[in-house]
Amino acid sequence: MNYSRVPIKHFDPDNRVKSLDVQTLVPYTIEEVAAEASRCIGCGLCIEGCPARIDVPGFQIAVKNGNLAEGLKINFEKLPFVGVCGSVCPHPCEDNCLLDDNNGPVATRHIKRFISENSPDYREMLDVVQNDLGGHPRVAIIGAGPSGLSAAFYLSINGIQVDVFEQTEKPGGMMVHGIPDFRLSRDTVEKETDHVLSYGAKIHYNAKIGRDVQFDELVQKYDAVYIAIGNWKPSKTRTPGVDLKGVYHALDFLGQVNYGKKIEVGESVAIIGGGFTAFDAARISFRLGAKKVIVMYRRAVTDRPGYPSSNANEELDEAEEERVQFIWEVTPIEYVGENGKVKGIKYWKNEMVDKGTGRREPVPIKDKEYLVEVDTVIEATGQKGDFSFIPREMMKKINVTPSGDLIVNQYNMTSFPGIFAGGDITNSRKDIISGVADSGRASMGMLFYFKDMGKIDSVPAKLINFERGPYGESYY
Ligand SMILES: Cc1cc2nc3c(=O)[nH]c(=O)nc-3n(C[C@H](O)[C@H](O)[C@H](O)COP(=O)(O)OP(=O)(O)OC[C@H]3O[C@@H](n4cnc5c(N)ncnc54)[C@H](O)[C@@H]3O)c2cc1C
Ligand code: SF4
Repeated sequence: MNYSRVPIKHFDPDNRVKSLDVQTLVPYTIEEVAAEASRCIGCGLCIEGCPARIDVPGFQIAVKNGNLAEGLKINFEKLPFVGVCGSVCPHPCEDNCLLDDNNGPVATRHIKRFISENSPDYREMLDVVQNDLGGHPRVAIIGAGPSGLSAAFYLSINGIQVDVFEQTEKPGGMMVHGIPDFRLSRDTVEKETDHVLSYGAKIHYNAKIGRDVQFDELVQKYDAVYIAIGNWKPSKTRTPGVDLKGVYHALDFLGQVNYGKKIEVGESVAIIGGGFTAFDAARISFRLGAKKVIVMYRRAVTDRPGYPSSNANEELDEAEEERVQFIWEVTPIEYVGENGKVKGIKYWKNEMVDKGTGRREPVPIKDKEYLVEVDTVIEATGQKGDFSFIPREMMKKINVTPSGDLIVNQYNMTSFPGIFAGGDITNSRKDIISGVADSGRASMGMLFYFKDMGKIDSVPAKLINFERGPYGESYY
């Protein structure tokens, strides 16, 4: 038996940067996927690494045996977005793999992508039996991102009436507004959003809560509300020059590009930040015609978000293949302009100091200033949830963390009975799989809540599985 991880091929970087939708990774062939799945020794350590506690070895065995339908079903117990996570999940499960030190962890994410891309009709393959729990309470879901849509799926297959309110004109949340097509194909997102909505959930587009529909109306009309609005409020810096032409926040920048707008970025672009969003904004800039793209981050390469992990290494490799440059450990002082348009960034170098907080802190060395000339600056400096639609009196009863996230219990209910929340506005990982895991806990929590309120007769036994996570062993 060959224990080495089957390498994943990359499309030619010089070619792929010419287009916004040429994928980065070449999917495994059937021979490659069978060889890779066969490496799994079934120890199960990966399950603890996965926020949704997916039975990873179970689906590796199914794939090894050529049973894709079984592999798909095992994933669907905890994850209705198999293809999405097969493309872009940061795969923390792989960091737990026993084979990590022994020729590479089993390529769980790539195997997941294979399952999805080779399962043309989910409905037919899954053959989901929809439950009737003896009542049909109504749930309003705010936000059609991965967390809101996963909750819509779990609830509608259990006979709950679901209305999803989405402020934009399409489903997917950051899967379509943030993550670029060259990492996550829009066909994959469409296939999976169409599928989750095919079990009866109704979706209302261009329905922004707080503008088109009021939050207290939802609380009155529905038996429970699930808030899954994601982090859509850009956190801009106060760097002098931030209002110059040519300075963008990454969310606005990526949102416009993903809506088909051609932004003129000029020859050279600087990105401020070091997370998912910074890397995507950098790689998009090449695809918009930039010749030089620099990511400037205040911490060291080994202190960047997500490090250490195999995903952080892959992210850096893919960006470096496309010739993204990096300036680590810097503090921008000013965005320098001419005639109202940005033309450079003045900055200090930082030193990383251990202040005993558990993470080294960047401290600027102020005795020398540096300048880099650029035509565009993109601030990938974070984003927050916008809860301005929640009336003040109600908001007073909802507990929040110091950083502004909503605090929820083990079933993702907030401190306001009947109001549940999940996704980026509640969890600290801020990735898709964590938002999906939240939706599973919340769906189960809502069913228990409805049972307690006498609105349904029973909670399905299969939804209760505390052994491998707080929700269903199987829905089928
Ligand atoms: C550039 C970028 C790259 C990323 N890359 C990855 C990656 O590779 N892997 C990964 O796992 N994660 C990645 N993420 C993070 C991931 O996209 C999020 O963790 C995930 O989408 C969060 O899901 P969610 O359902 O909580 O919110 P979102 O996906 O943000 O969806 C929230 C939805 O709510 C809607 N909404 C907001 N306010 C209202 C309102 N008032 N009324 C009605 N609707 C409203 C929004 O329009 C949106 O559709 C990335 C994020 C960004 C920005
Ligand atoms: S940790 Fe690795 S070897 Fe162990 S079950 Fe998971 S994928 Fe298989």
